[in-house]
Amino acid sequence: MSCLTARNVVAVVDREAFDVLTVGITTDGAWVRDPMDWDGLEAGTLPSVAPDLPPFSWDDLRDVDVVFPLLHGPWGEDGTIQGLLEMAGVRYVGAGVLASAAGMDKPFTKSLFSAGGLPQVPHVTVLPQQWADPAGRERVLDRVRALGMPVFVKPSRAGSSSGVTKVDHADDLEAAVESARAFDPKVVVEAAARGKRELEVGVIQRPDGTPWASVVGEVVQAPDSQHAFYDFEAKYLDGTSSNVVPADVPDSVAEQVRTYAVQAFAALGCEGLARVDFFLTDDGLVINEINTMPGFTSTSMFPVLWQATGVDYAELVGRLLDLALERPVGLR
Ligand code: ATP
Ligand code: MG
Ligand code: MG
Ligand code: MG
Repeated sequence: MSCLTARNVVAVVDREAFDVLTVGITTDGAWVRDPMDWDGLEAGTLPSVAPDLPPFSWDDLRDVDVVFPLLHGPWGEDGTIQGLLEMAGVRYVGAGVLASAAGMDKPFTKSLFSAGGLPQVPHVTVLPQQWADPAGRERVLDRVRALGMPVFVKPSRAGSSSGVTKVDHADDLEAAVESARAFDPKVVVEAAARGKRELEVGVIQRPDGTPWASVVGEVVQAPDSQHAFYDFEAKYLDGTSSNVVPADVPDSVAEQVRTYAVQAFAALGCEGLARVDFFLTDDGLVINEINTMPGFTSTSMFPVLWQATGVDYAELVGRLLDLALERPVGLR
C-alpha cells in the first residue's frame, strides 16, 4: 500500500518549495532510491518496490529537510523508523517515537485511552509467558471466557486485520490465539462490539499545534460480503467495503466522535496526523484504535475525510510537511 500512497503524495508535493527524493524498501528489506516507476498496479494486486534499483545510502539524507514516512504497520508506523530519523537528526511528518510505538501496540493503546477517559470494549491481554505455562494459560482463558462470546482475538502489533479472528465458540479460542501469535506473541482478546457501525475520523494539527478533527466517515460492508468482518481482503483487495463521507449519523454522535478523537490524539501524544477509529454500538460509542500513519492514497479514508472538511489532498500534504518543518530536531 505504501507504494501507491507515495506515488499519490509525490504527485501533489509543491515543487516550488521542495525537491523530492523517493526511497523505497523492497520486500527483502533493502532500501533503494527512485522506486517510483511501478508498473502493474492492476486492481487486485499490491505493488512492491523493484530490487534492482540504486541503493539508498544514509549520506543521501544529509541534505534532506523533511521525511514523509509513508509506511504502515511494524517498522513504519511503530516508532522504529521515527527513531532512526531522530538519530539521524532529520525532521519527519507525523507522530514521534513514543506515540507511534504506543499506537501500534493494542494493549498499550488501550491503557492510554483509558487513562484519557475514553470508552472501550472490555479486553484481556494474553502475554507470552502466561500462554507458555499450562496453569497460566487456563487462568487467562478463564478471564477471556468471562468476556462472553463472541470475541475478537488480535495480535498486539500487526494491523490490516492480519491475524485477527472473530471467535463465536469458546472451543475455538486457543486456535485463534495461536493464529494471532503467528504475528505477535502478545495477543489481545476483546469483547465484540454489539450491533456495531464503524466510524472513522481524521485529526491533524493546526499551525498553532492544536488538534483539529475532520468530518466523520463510515466504513460500510456490502450486505452480500462474505467477510465475517472488515478484514484485509475487504479493506484492500475486493472492494466489498466502501467509505461513506460524511457518515449518516446524528450530529450529536459526530460531535462526540470528534471530541473523543481529539482526546485520543492528546492521550497518546500524537503529532501531525492520526485517524481514529470507533464502533457505534447498541451500547454507545467506543474507541477501537488510532492509526498514526493512516492509509494516505488520494482515495483513502483519511484524505477523503479532509477533502470533505475543506482541505484537499495537496493542501493536506503541504500542511503536514509544514508542521514537520516546525518541529524541533534533536533533543526536546
Ligand atoms: P487496521 O489497523 O488495519 O484497521 P487491525 O489489524 O488493527 O486493522 P482492528 O481494526 O482492530 O484490526 O480490527 C479489524 C476489524 O475487525 C475492525 O475493522 C472490525 O470490523 C472488526 N473488529 C475488531 N474488533 C472488534 C470488536 N471488538 N467488535 C466488533 N468488531 C470488531
Ligand atoms: Mg490497527
Ligand atoms: Mg482497524
Ligand atoms: Mg489501523
